[in-house]
Amino acid sequence: TVPVPSAEPPLRPVVAQLPGYVAGRRASGALTAALASNESHYDPLPSVLEEVREAAGRMNRYPDMGAVQLRERIAAFLGVRPEEVAVGPGSVGVLQQILGATCGPGDEVVFAWRSFEAYPILVSLTGATAVPVPLAADEGHDLEAMAAAVTDRTRAVLVCSPNNPTGTSVPQAALERFLAAVPPHVLVVVDEAYVEFVDEERPLDALALFRAHPNVCVLRTFSKAYGLAGLRVGYAVAHEGLAEGLRKVALPFGVSTVAQRAAIRSLDAAGELRERAAAVAAERRRVVDALRAAGWELPESQANFVWLRAGDALREALTGAFDRAGVLVRAYPGDGVRITLADPATNDRVLAVLADRAAFPA
Ligand code: PMP
Repeated sequence: TVPVPSAEPPLRPVVAQLPGYVAGRRASGALTAALASNESHYDPLPSVLEEVREAAGRMNRYPDMGAVQLRERIAAFLGVRPEEVAVGPGSVGVLQQILGATCGPGDEVVFAWRSFEAYPILVSLTGATAVPVPLAADEGHDLEAMAAAVTDRTRAVLVCSPNNPTGTSVPQAALERFLAAVPPHVLVVVDEAYVEFVDEERPLDALALFRAHPNVCVLRTFSKAYGLAGLRVGYAVAHEGLAEGLRKVALPFGVSTVAQRAAIRSLDAAGELRERAAAVAAERRRVVDALRAAGWELPESQANFVWLRAGDALREALTGAFDRAGVLVRAYPGDGVRITLADPATNDRVLAVLADRAAFPA
């Protein structure tokens, strides 16, 4: 006879200890503006919606596992080869594939902190050790300290530009120096989830670094500027060996037909979507200027959000004030508050909450 188990099967210790990904949540009352997840505030494009409706009619069939058409379109769009593109369920899904294909117990993965909260979770899950390197005083990556944190055990480095949650971008020259300092067997992943919002005069050209360095790979997503967060599709531009490895470790059929078709239609409409992103960037300039004029100190964001560094008292006062205003923002205990940018009227509500720096604790 089979013995009746007395307890549930145990989780791996690393899983039992994981904090888990915490999405934005509202404490009370009616939510009227969701500014906690860096989503697009625009309605889906009619052409994309139509494609989604049409593709949904085939939901009884599995999607194309190789995502051949989508990969070809992405490759043509970026000027790379389809063999150098791997897609996955969101760029976070692709990052899980990257880490799963390259890292394991005994390895180390270096990243800036604070950055995207999924990094330490995904790294720990592989059994590798997360090596967070504090951000510099300007809230940007401290690439010199990150290079110094690379050891014989380092397998990968995650560089987030623009950085979530601080919005800071990594300068090309600094990343070039970093690449020259790091051994070529260390994979350097440049996470460009927010690249479409960058409006710097000389933006980081991560694709050029990909072409010049066999150890660079670039991560992008349809979730932010392309407005497909709910469909889950992201991609990596990776050298052929890694791209092939990513396809091997991918969850079979992880990107739905609906998501693949919507992503292709969105690339058809890239011009229009870029205009939307440019409008968000223009709003960012206005909001940052207004906040500075109101007495707030904040870093130079190149993303679709702004960052207020805050100790506990300020953070609690900020989340309370936003909560009363029906605005959901993302609070990071110990670090600060991140506010996603939206349309001018919604951004004005943010500015109204923050109109007087002196009304908040130091
Ligand atoms: N990278 C960064 C820096 C992000 O902020 C996010 C989303 N918060 C992602 C990747 C993942 O986005 P997705 O999985 O929707 O592509």
